[in-house]
Amino acid sequence: MNDFKKIRHPEKINKPDNISPKKPFWLKVKAPQGKIFDQTKDLLDDLNITTVCEEASCPNIGNCWSKKHATMMIMGDICTRACSFCNVATGKPNKLDLSEPIRVAKSVARLNLNHVVITSVDRDDLYDGGADHFVATITDIRKYSPNTSIEILTPDFLKKDGALEKVINAKPDVFNHNLETVPRLYPSVRPGARYFHSLSLLAKVKEVDPNIFTKSGIMVGLGESQNEIYQVMDDMRSADIDFLTIGQYLQPTIKHHKVEKFVHPDEFDKYKKVALSKGFLLVSSSPFTRSSFHASEDFEKLKKIRINQLNNYKSNLK
Ligand code: SF4
Repeated sequence: MNDFKKIRHPEKINKPDNISPKKPFWLKVKAPQGKIFDQTKDLLDDLNITTVCEEASCPNIGNCWSKKHATMMIMGDICTRACSFCNVATGKPNKLDLSEPIRVAKSVARLNLNHVVITSVDRDDLYDGGADHFVATITDIRKYSPNTSIEILTPDFLKKDGALEKVINAKPDVFNHNLETVPRLYPSVRPGARYFHSLSLLAKVKEVDPNIFTKSGIMVGLGESQNEIYQVMDDMRSADIDFLTIGQYLQPTIKHHKVEKFVHPDEFDKYKKVALSKGFLLVSSSPFTRSSFHASEDFEKLKKIRINQLNNYKSNLK
């Protein structure tokens, strides 16, 4: 941790306070506890593994860690972007820790995971945006845990020529990159990113290796309209994205983007129905949906759906 970490979001200090409405009853969660939760925490602490579960103050941590499901965050805990929704600390990152891929691989083996999700901070300071580090992490996990499926949730590798191709060639089982919000809100929510760049990144993954499942997610409650959400769904389908996640945005601190709306669970159900009708293989849409929530179970579902589709296709040919 360097000095920049002392103030988690230096760029937000002078921003006005954003007062969000009071949380509705359906967003109440129990405090995390339990033996397996403690074991997961001890093991991750022991190997000095950073998780997005803690860094992003995820409300699902009790649920996930009680099943030994944690999303490991590589390349440090300081991000070079300054998105207005995100609780990950921002500033000048530390040097890359080249021992990290092996430590992550050892922790995956010790947790005996069937499926692991690896994410990272944005590393615009690195010549390849961290692509080589992703590749090393995937390679080491495969070495220590050949039967574990690997899902990656990557940055956008904006202006890093050749970086995306390197990561695709490492053959993760699931390639996730979140669009996060509708294009109109990018300047205020995700100012360092470009909507159509993120979309084309996902389209490229499918184009290069159609065997990799692609996945993307948005948060709702940031001020988007329903029609804008439907347009994002259409854009995602045109990029051939398999799996859509939709969850409620929660404000990490008073300096972050305001919650404009707490979307009712019924509205999430409606989004799920509409999205499925647009052709996604799988949709997770609920107030607590996060891109890595239930990732292991969802990967099994994705595989089954694809096999069924192939079988149907073959029987139609007969
Ligand atoms: S949903 Fe993802 S980020 Fe949240 S606790 Fe679970 S694994 Fe961690």
